[in-house]
Amino acid sequence: MGEPKGVAEGVPIAVRPDPRRDDGRRPVAWLHITAPPSWSVTPSARSWCTCGYERQAIGRAAVLQLITAHGENRASCPLLTPALEGRAAA
Ligand SMILES: [Zn+2]
Repeated sequence: MGEPKGVAEGVPIAVRPDPRRDDGRRPVAWLHITAPPSWSVTPSARSWCTCGYERQAIGRAAVLQLITAHGENRASCPLLTPALEGRAAA
């Protein structure tokens, strides 16, 4: 594991939830993808969350897996799904 120092060239794309759809909760999970337009440059991505979740992916397939894993964290994250702990609040 290490920082991808060779992939500085590229188009950083920050994917964040639409703030207008946020119902007052602050975003706690981030997904950052560096996907160069050139196929000769390896794409990389980093996904992290304030619950302690953090992953980094190097390579096209790994980035796709990271995106999937990021979605899974958003679905199971205790910070994003307080309903899992609030079942008694009914
Ligand atoms: Zn989380």
